Amino acid sequence: MRVVVASGNAHKVAEIQSILGDLPVCRFDDVFGYPHDAVEDGLTFEANAIKKIDFLPLFLDTIYLSDDSGLEVEALNGAPGIYSARFAGAGATSSQMCTKILSAIAGESNRQARFRCVIALRFPDGRIDTISGGVDGVLSHEMRGGDGFGYDPIFIPDGYTQTFAEMSSKLKHELSHRGRALRLAAEKLLL
Ligand code: IMP
Repeated sequence: MRVVVASGNAHKVAEIQSILGDLPVCRFDDVFGYPHDAVEDGLTFEANAIKKIDFLPLFLDTIYLSDDSGLEVEALNGAPGIYSARFAGAGATSSQMCTKILSAIAGESNRQARFRCVIALRFPDGRIDTISGGVDGVLSHEMRGGDGFGYDPIFIPDGYTQTFAEMSSKLKHELSHRGRALRLAAEKLLL
């Protein structure tokens, strides 16, 4: 049995591979020879995670795994949420995405935010299971740290002073929305 990660986001795939450790994880494009693409027009993380895998061909030896995730900012009424990847425009860099959030909440005293992630698994019989993970934190006043991706340079998880981008990837995975959801998902993989 193999786990095929249905994502075109290289950072996410690397995190998923590293968190799932010894499990036989394959990248979608390595298996199929073309990049993964799906229309993400759902209204929830869960709906979009399912949309990323529900059309893929079933194989007896393949479990598909997808991730839909994003940042919810309290002062922005939960935005960018499911629109996190596109909030600063298609193809925006991590720095442009962080700058857009920092400008949107400039002057706000409430800097609470939450990363959320829904992992969807699709088994060889077509059954789909979803698992959620979240992490609460605050937004910094400036970008800090060189590692990580997306909004990592401005997110400080509760109980810490470093941003996700300043932490080792090991510590980020212990705390993160994706790490939490994936550790629960790993129990369901029963390989
Ligand atoms: P999608 O799930 O591919 O639609 O995109 C999720 C977007 O949320 C990513 O492109 C990032 O901008 C952001 N995001 C999700 N997880 C993380 C994370 O762990 N760190 C930083 N940004 C994240």
